[in-house]
Amino acid sequence: MADRPDAPGPLDGVALLDHHCHGVVTTDLDLPEFESLLTEAPGPGGPDRFDSALGLAVRRWCAPVLGLEPHPSPEEYLRRRADLGWAESTRRLLRAGGARTWLVDTGYTAHNLTSPDELAVLADGRAYPVTRLEAVAENVGSAARDSGAAAGNTGSAAGWTDSVEQAVRAEVAAGAVGLKTVVAYRCGLAVPAEPPSAATVTHAAGRWLGGGGGRIADPVLCAWLVHLGVRLSAELGLPLQVHTGFGDPDVRLHLANPALLSDLLARTRHTGAVFMLLHCWPYQRDAGYLAHVFGHVRVDVGLAVPYVGIRARAVLAELLELAPFRSVCFSSDGYGLPELHFLGARLWRRALAGLVADWIADDVLTTPDADRLVRRLAAGNAAAVYPGVGDGPG
Ligand SMILES: [Zn+2]
Repeated sequence: MADRPDAPGPLDGVALLDHHCHGVVTTDLDLPEFESLLTEAPGPGGPDRFDSALGLAVRRWCAPVLGLEPHPSPEEYLRRRADLGWAESTRRLLRAGGARTWLVDTGYTAHNLTSPDELAVLADGRAYPVTRLEAVAENVGSAARDSGAAAGNTGSAAGWTDSVEQAVRAEVAAGAVGLKTVVAYRCGLAVPAEPPSAATVTHAAGRWLGGGGGRIADPVLCAWLVHLGVRLSAELGLPLQVHTGFGDPDVRLHLANPALLSDLLARTRHTGAVFMLLHCWPYQRDAGYLAHVFGHVRVDVGLAVPYVGIRARAVLAELLELAPFRSVCFSSDGYGLPELHFLGARLWRRALAGLVADWIADDVLTTPDADRLVRRLAAGNAAAVYPGVGDGPG
């Protein structure tokens, strides 16, 4: 059952397009630092962080990539990682996952991370930035505050919305291939189907700027940003990535169910906008349904795959119950540790290979059908909606 470390992995000939990930930490990590990135829980690491499906997966699948036998102790793994150094470990892990192209969300920088260009060099592939709307909006607010031009002034608040839109357009003009919203973390996903009025937005922006700016959690500003993303997605031909499902404890899980987007999805179905529902766990069935009924919805189970480890196949199978096959994309959502990029790819390949092998054995589909299917899920579906990133549908 278990693949040997040096044996060819499932779908090894199929290149992946990792359509949502982040950079990796550019320093060597001790065990507590490594463990703190091996969880969505806050605070320092602890000895129990390896004692999980994800920890088992690191020991089983990452260890051979670094030249160890499978299943070393956490201490042995970190010793080997330190001997190789963060850069060589990263090179090996990114290249071993089989992704050739990475779309990198540059808007979350709690650690010192590689830029997309640095990631591309380490991975020997291509990387493109994805613009996080909330980060752009907050940076524009900070700049206004620092210049002393905005505080408590609704005229400047009106200017803020224009400046945010210009800043997002500038990032796209500079090469961003997608937009991203983390509204799930701020207000939840029950975003009103209609955009807020200009007067309401100006009032809310004035209040926010007058309070010193910072993290945007005002429901009116959150809704305005999402609708800006929808509008630009349609106009510029870029998908709007939406965080859904689990994440760090800033998220209120019940408010991150993608089904809460139903009204917005219904209203925008014919606008040309494309929604990429990221992660989705534990709502992968809800997300699959949304992709089933709304043609402008794409879905993935990135982030979930490395975290659920041995259950990745079950999670992917649930997504594929209703999701049209053209809507399912691959992402790792690797952040900080290249182990997460690698495991996102390795375990997703293994899960999909297992499912497809079962279907072939059951005469559900032919081998050529299966070959086409895995290439579309691995890269072709994403390449069809992000501008200029792929080698064409697989
Ligand atoms: Zn992410």
